[in-house]
Amino acid sequence: MDEQITNYLLALLPEKDNWIVDLEEQAQKDRVPIMDSIGMDFIMQLIRMNKPSEILEIGTGIGYSALRMLEASPESTITTIEKDEKRYNQAKANLKKYDNRKKVTLVQGDALSIMTNMAEHEGKFDCIFIDAAKGQYEKYFDLADSLLINNGFIIADNVLFRGYVADYDFEHRRYKSIVNRLREYNKRVTNHSSYHTSIVPVGDGVAISFKSSERSHTNEK
Ligand code: SAH
Ligand code: MG
Repeated sequence: MDEQITNYLLALLPEKDNWIVDLEEQAQKDRVPIMDSIGMDFIMQLIRMNKPSEILEIGTGIGYSALRMLEASPESTITTIEKDEKRYNQAKANLKKYDNRKKVTLVQGDALSIMTNMAEHEGKFDCIFIDAAKGQYEKYFDLADSLLINNGFIIADNVLFRGYVADYDFEHRRYKSIVNRLREYNKRVTNHSSYHTSIVPVGDGVAISFKSSERSHTNEK
């Protein structure tokens, strides 16, 4: 997003409670890439309006986005998966401190294998938030699809990755494979026969894919 607009929007955000500032400071100190404030605010608004009863998050980090989604929809139940042991432990401590009603279940492990073993939860989730390894988004999506109810939605963060995804002129040697994979993800979800997808250039780029079995009948692709 344009820097001037970003600063303008940041200044309009409500003042943050102490627990939010605490988590943001932890993330900064340990270099954990948590959701940016404006992107987070946007996702919270989606969650607030839809009030999903069961949310699945892929990539907990230190628990920031899970707790903020819960702030937006306190009656939701959230399952969140984190691979890294250190972050898992930090998230666990943060949830103990800030998730007083125990609405968040934290799972340690690789989301790819954990979701593969979640077959009994088919159609259980109304919202799935993908925010983990950017090279694996298509794999997460396929697994998420089977766990997502019809009329549910999948949100993916970082789909424009610093704008590189849209920039075909710039040579990103270091990020080439991530950028290509995110392009594949964006192409896939915007062309998918059972999803309506909208990609919003907020924060690092957010894709919202709404699952609708109707789509294949009305808009054959
Ligand atoms: N959603 C968090 C930030 C997550 S950062 C927030 O905004 O607050 C991305 C996290 O995904 C990292 O902590 C990383 O360890 C985790 N991750 C990466 N690949 C993963 C995988 N395959 N399964 C589970 N977690 C993964
Ligand atoms: Mg992210």
